[in-house]
Amino acid sequence: MLNLPEDFGCMSFNEATMRERLPKDAYIALKRTREKGVPLDLNMANVVANCMKDWAIEKGATHFTHWFQPLNGITAEKHEGFIAPSGEGDGSIIMEFSGKELIKGEPDASSFPSGGLRATFEARGYTAWDPTSYAFIKDGVLCIPTAFCSYGGEALDKKTPLLRSMAALNTQAMRILKLFESKAEHVTPTVGLEQEYFLIDRDMYNLRKDLIYTGRTLFGAKPPKTQELDDHYYGSIRIRVSAFMKELNEELWKLGILAKTEHNEVAPAQHELAPIFTTVNVAVDHNQITMEIMRKVAKRHGLTCLLHEKPFASVNGSGKHNNWSLCTDTGENLFEPGDTPEKNAQFLTFFCAVIKAVDEYQDLLRISVASAGNDHRLGGNEAPPAIISMYIGEEIEAILNSIATGNHYNKIEHKPIQIGVDVLPPIPRDTTDRNRTSPFAFTGNKFEFRMLGSSMSAADVNTVLNTIVAESLCCFADELEKAEDFNAALGELLRNTIRKHRRIIFNGNGYDENWVKEAQRRGLSNYSSTAEAAPHLMDEKNVRLFSRHGVLNETELRPRCDVMLEGYCKQINIEALVMTEMIRGDILPAVIDFGKFLAEAITSKKSACADIACLAENRLLKRISHLGDTLFTRCEDLSTAISPDNIPADLVQRAKYYRETVLALMNELREVADELETLVSKDYWPYPSYGRVMYRV
Ligand code: ADP
Ligand code: MG
Repeated sequence: MLNLPEDFGCMSFNEATMRERLPKDAYIALKRTREKGVPLDLNMANVVANCMKDWAIEKGATHFTHWFQPLNGITAEKHEGFIAPSGEGDGSIIMEFSGKELIKGEPDASSFPSGGLRATFEARGYTAWDPTSYAFIKDGVLCIPTAFCSYGGEALDKKTPLLRSMAALNTQAMRILKLFESKAEHVTPTVGLEQEYFLIDRDMYNLRKDLIYTGRTLFGAKPPKTQELDDHYYGSIRIRVSAFMKELNEELWKLGILAKTEHNEVAPAQHELAPIFTTVNVAVDHNQITMEIMRKVAKRHGLTCLLHEKPFASVNGSGKHNNWSLCTDTGENLFEPGDTPEKNAQFLTFFCAVIKAVDEYQDLLRISVASAGNDHRLGGNEAPPAIISMYIGEEIEAILNSIATGNHYNKIEHKPIQIGVDVLPPIPRDTTDRNRTSPFAFTGNKFEFRMLGSSMSAADVNTVLNTIVAESLCCFADELEKAEDFNAALGELLRNTIRKHRRIIFNGNGYDENWVKEAQRRGLSNYSSTAEAAPHLMDEKNVRLFSRHGVLNETELRPRCDVMLEGYCKQINIEALVMTEMIRGDILPAVIDFGKFLAEAITSKKSACADIACLAENRLLKRISHLGDTLFTRCEDLSTAISPDNIPADLVQRAKYYRETVLALMNELREVADELETLVSKDYWPYPSYGRVMYRV
């Protein structure tokens, strides 16, 4: 049993542990490094490393690792023992961990996807300690959160650009805050990630090759009941799931992860976990650890945790809502509407910066959530559509309209809102309304971006958010810093910004078909798939944006586009291969066997009694024979489609081919198999049904 609050963070080398265990000068030096980015000199690093090692050994650790996040979106680690020969010549050992080992590592990382970037420069990459994210112990290994770069300093991971985007955002936000005479010295993005997942029985999982190889079901007829009755959402949590959640929470709390809420989600077997928000790079690290621990703890309970965006057709998929805000070192949330004219002017400035950013870089936000898995979800019935728009609520929309048009804002006074003079009316927190159909919603004091997929790293999304908002703030600051009458200039700037970018605001139903047409009329982009979206990463305006703010230069950006497209093609190719294997190895033989059973039943019935009609057997036999033939031909077609000769060499064309040709063939194939599943006897069908998989827990 965990003893809270004492045991919270007991496996994390956190602030309290540092204060307690480090010599004072080392503690102060490390604090400067953590807070101000001042490099830690080697002497101090040695002291810190030694302390960390002693602490880790007391907690049972024998190894350490530089823990990093390569471009494939998962985490990587290579364990190194603390042991070293003692030098006594008697075969004894000592436990060692140096400052150098803490600060820098050189993993042989040649097998990580790098889009050819590493080859262009140097074969080796190195990992560099991110002292702002606490080291932690996982499975007896001291994990040091690190960034991963090439020897030329090019980012090879997802963390480096995220850290750079935080710095860029801080620089630009501080320029704006200076103009408002703020006392703040630093601005940090804060993020809370709500994580959705499915839990299914491990025995059921082991019987489904599609789940094992691809994380999602490639076949499966719709069961008689799924989520129609809304009886799972917030429902009472079953005993087995509740035991899982309890252990998961304890594991996360030990690591200092602020797991806070848990509940059943809409689909059968679907659940959600949300932590309390924290600094963005830490939130991203914590989310990666959370996903890993979810999988491990599930195993211990005879369960499997599915993090795929769409494990089952016909029920909701899983996402990861990214709640994002900006916080100053003085503890002020910059998206909290204030209660003085100055605070409101400041709030509106940051708010309009986000509107401009989301409108100008819709494509980047869409790209940051693009993956083969998430494509099944976006634009589906339950997830936000692939079109980016913002929900800001009626109250704020009315305020912005008043600013833009100079018309009366009726609810308070019969005059237009004057920036820097008026107090805004109280803005109600969005608690009841909850426009769940909006991909990007303002929820009272933060923005909730809902398009991120459940299995994806949250690093890219936040790198994009930080960078595009930094860009808006930079444009604003350029304008305002030279103004003579600040309030007048600000009023003018906000008016123009709202007028220019209000097309991105949409408070209506994002699932409505008319919205697609309306969005098109407004000129909003609509990339329905990764194949269409990803190549736009390299659009000139995007390349310029990332390089202007020092987040990613062109040589660093290109490989990210390639890795995304390659991953997409490979994922679909694997799925197609698994499908053909399942059809040929299991489904078709089952259909043939069942046909034989029917044929024999007809023969034996007829020989027993010649004038028996055998209507059911005859009809069923004809139908499944026909479907069996179709299944066979479609399976051959799919197989031909993915034979290497037919795959385009050019990456963009290849992705398009997988999207338009291969996925279409897969869907056609699935349709036949799913119909057969409803006709063939359960005794013959080779895989557990959706019903058994989803309701077994
Ligand atoms: P709900 O959406 O269920 O009402 P909340 O709005 O409290 O719950 O929070 C949803 C998520 O947003 C949580 O992970 C929470 O920690 C996070 N969150 C709340 N405030 C902020 C903030 N200022 N910055 C970033 N994330 C936040
Ligand atoms: Mg939410």
